Amino acid sequence: MKLVFATNNTNKLQEVQALMPSHIELLSLDDIGCLEDVPENQLTITGNAIQKATYIKDRYGYDCFADDTGLEVNALNGEPGVFTARYAGPQRNADDNIDKLLYELEYKNDRSAQFKTAIALISNDELNTFEGICKGKITKVRRGQKGFGYDPVFKPNGYDQTFAEMELELKNKIGHRGKAIQLLIKHLASIK
Ligand code: IMP
Repeated sequence: MKLVFATNNTNKLQEVQALMPSHIELLSLDDIGCLEDVPENQLTITGNAIQKATYIKDRYGYDCFADDTGLEVNALNGEPGVFTARYAGPQRNADDNIDKLLYELEYKNDRSAQFKTAIALISNDELNTFEGICKGKITKVRRGQKGFGYDPVFKPNGYDQTFAEMELELKNKIGHRGKAIQLLIKHLASIK
C-alpha cells in the first residue's frame, strides 16, 4: 500500500519509516514530484495537519497523512504552539528558535513544557486525526547532537537525557510523534 507522508524532512521520514509496518510503502513529497511549499496557515496544530493532508490529496490524488508539531511551554502560556517552527522569525532556524526560547525562560522557574503532534490521515476518502503528547522540561543549555529542532533543550519527564542525547529508538517510543504514529499505525492495520 502506497501512502504519502507529506514531508521532506528526512529526519522525520526516517523516524516514521522505522515505525511503519512493512506492507506500507511511504512516499515523500519529493517522491510524488511535489516541490512546492504546502500551505500550513491554520490557527491550530490539528488544523495545519488537516490542511496539508487535504492539499496533497486534492492536488496529487494520493492517500496521504500529514503531521504538525508544536512545543507548548507552560510559563509562556502555551507558546510557541502553532508558531513553533517560526518562533524566532520566518527563517525557521532551529538554532535561532532555541536561543529565543532560552532567553524567554531565563528568569522563569517553571520550565515545564510538552510537545504535541497531530496527524491527519486521508485514506479511502475518510479523514482521521491522531494526537501524541510528550511532557518534559526545557533545559538551561543545549545538550546532545542527535535529532533536530528543539531536541537539544527538551528533556522528557522520567529521563536524564535530552531528546538530542537519546537513541532514535527511545525517542520514537516515548516521543510525541511516535505516540501519534502508533495510533496511526493501529488505525491503518484495522482498515488493511
Ligand atoms: P513540524 O510541524 O514538524 O514542521 O515542526 C514544527 C516545529 O517543531 C519545527 O521547528 C520543528 O523543528 C519542531 N519539532 C517538530 N518535531 C520535533 C521534535 O521531535 N523534536 C524537536 N523539535 C521538533
